[in-house]
Amino acid sequence: MNIGALWKTVVMVVQASLRDACSVLVADPPVKLAGYCQSSLRDDWGRWGNDSPPCGTIGPLRARFGPSGTIGAVGFVVISITAIALHCSYPRQFIIHPASSEKSIMSHAHSRRCFLEASLVAGAAIATPRNLFATETPHLSGNLTARGESASPPKPAFAVTDYHIHLSNTLTIDQALQLGKERGVQIGIVDHPGQGFSINSDADLKKYIEGLRKYPVHVGLQPVYTGWSKSFSKPVLDQLDYVLMDALTMPRPDGGWLAIWQIDTVVDNGEEFMTHYMPFIEQVLTTEPIDIFGWPTFLPVPIARQYAQLWTPQRVDRIIELARARKIAIEINEVAHVPDENFIGRAKRAGLKFTFGTDSRNEHAAHLYYCYQMVERCGLGEADMFVVKKK
Ligand SMILES: [Zn+2]
Repeated sequence: MNIGALWKTVVMVVQASLRDACSVLVADPPVKLAGYCQSSLRDDWGRWGNDSPPCGTIGPLRARFGPSGTIGAVGFVVISITAIALHCSYPRQFIIHPASSEKSIMSHAHSRRCFLEASLVAGAAIATPRNLFATETPHLSGNLTARGESASPPKPAFAVTDYHIHLSNTLTIDQALQLGKERGVQIGIVDHPGQGFSINSDADLKKYIEGLRKYPVHVGLQPVYTGWSKSFSKPVLDQLDYVLMDALTMPRPDGGWLAIWQIDTVVDNGEEFMTHYMPFIEQVLTTEPIDIFGWPTFLPVPIARQYAQLWTPQRVDRIIELARARKIAIEINEVAHVPDENFIGRAKRAGLKFTFGTDSRNEHAAHLYYCYQMVERCGLGEADMFVVKKK
């Protein structure tokens, strides 16, 4: 066997793994990934599924380039030690550099630099504590469950509904119902009214509601723009089972809207952002005719890591106070992992009701993990859950 050729192959595999790992880091730097668990880009990362909810930075990072990074880093260490040992034992036969030499362990002239850079980046990423950037402990079923460190939280004993499901090209009503059946979860469908969407008048809304009444689902609406209700009359709005609204589409001072859930949202200063965000949340909770407050306490990606600092007890209590005053339920959001345990605990003590929502448009519908985890940790019972008014 040609040891030289074998060695070269091993080096190339390790090198390719490291490059792969490195390219992921370059494409999705940690700062961007830090808020990933609070972004709505889950669908772009379809491989996750809801039973391996990503949260924090290192979780997604590890899983994204785990195999490459692991092969690369371990291989790098093994190769380095072997190369140095061989070089010391056989200084003339085994030359680590120069790179141009035929006997070099690197086959390409430029590769040694890439190799070292990639190794350092991948090694550092792998060595980073898992929750360095995380807002809470990541729990990846892919990596961790295999080692028995994380198990799916149990399904609550009471009847469960996913109130935040959007029908789409990738999710028909029949598919949603089937998923609900398989997962033992009732289905709540929402759609957006307003500019750019198909529900803009009483006639549109009636058609939407009647279309869904044929099925055993709750029929909801998810407005995104404040003032949306002016387009509809009260009798038609009253036919809905519920209205769910979030505070993620903020009006800009110069007109237009800022969708803060988008991953490229720029926020320089968290405290300054909160001085605009809180009044907007207050506006939604005090003036909009809604039953459920969606995505509560979500923060844009650049400041997602400051969740604990920015959601002061005063701000949390203000939201709870306003929601309680109008009997608005709190959505526990499966995508964003919001609100956190602390908020849910305080809201529960204040007597607020909760809903679960996957905000899904695909097979993630009715797949609840974070929600069940919160039920377990916060001791939520049937009495804490929102109930649709009988029509
Ligand atoms: Zn939605």
